[in-house]
Amino acid sequence: MRAVQESLLDAGTAPPAAGRARTEGQAVTRTFDGVTCHEVGARTAVERVPEAAELPFRWSVSPYRGCEGACAHCAARRDRARGAGAGAASTVVVRTGLADRLRRELASPRWEGAPVVLGATGDCYQPVEEIYRLMPSILRALADAGNPFTLMTGSPLVLRDLDLLRQAAAVAPVRAAVPVGFVDDRVRRAVEPGAATPQRRLEVCSALNDAGIPCGVLMAPVLPLITDSPDHLRSTVRRAAEAGAVSVTPIVLRLPPGTREWYLAWLEREHPGLLPRYQALYGRGSVAEAGYRARIAAQVRSLADAYGIGRDDRRWRRRRSPARQLTLA
Ligand code: SF4
Repeated sequence: MRAVQESLLDAGTAPPAAGRARTEGQAVTRTFDGVTCHEVGARTAVERVPEAAELPFRWSVSPYRGCEGACAHCAARRDRARGAGAGAASTVVVRTGLADRLRRELASPRWEGAPVVLGATGDCYQPVEEIYRLMPSILRALADAGNPFTLMTGSPLVLRDLDLLRQAAAVAPVRAAVPVGFVDDRVRRAVEPGAATPQRRLEVCSALNDAGIPCGVLMAPVLPLITDSPDHLRSTVRRAAEAGAVSVTPIVLRLPPGTREWYLAWLEREHPGLLPRYQALYGRGSVAEAGYRARIAAQVRSLADAYGIGRDDRRWRRRRSPARQLTLA
């Protein structure tokens, strides 16, 4: 592949106004506030979701690989890490030209219009999206093709593109999912220091639902022995219900290679007494034992039923819309 030049940036997307550029191998590299962005021309737009990701989608579209969120449990770390260890959190691959390529692939007679997921390899509304603005042209490409999609993001920046989401939803099914694994902000500060607070994410969920984009809560991750108590689970499901979430889906922490080393190092620092119990729960694998996962799923399902999630007559529908108070950070 030839060297990527700045001219490969998305058509209609202005090059970043700030950030010192240098060419590094096949990518243009810029640094913004300590975040290193490698701009690489997208060679494919629609990609197959690996089965190991356990997502209910076959296809994904990913403007970024890696994420500034620096969450200790994040599977996106596998993409951004590549042995980068502690520096991994500040490295993001920016896939320039993705929207043009997406238009071509969606127009191909071989494409059958399957639903795609956005945000599977890093939050597509992470802070560098304010600079690169890849998402508006991606949403327009999906809307023009009438292709269904689900957007996964926990960032209030998504509200910038509400009009585009509405336009896409007018021609194809569009859904959203906001990750809120727990609502204890002390845990969030320790594990997800760069991510929006659970309250902000729930406000995003409310705002999307109010805008007519059905939005659920991805209760991901449930952290074994840290956020899996009945009280933690109940508080999270109740707050999701109050935010008007249309669904709540629990996903117990996964520890694939890359994530595993990082998370267990964090655990050893913060909760060394839990290490033996994690070893018993995960062994050498990436997922917690099946019985544990089934128990969490049953508890969350029962709480979701109790709080009326997924029913129009839910008792815990919020009394007033937090969306009215919401401004972009
Ligand atoms: S914000 Fe989401 S995508 Fe980004 S590091 Fe955290 S969990 Fe990963």
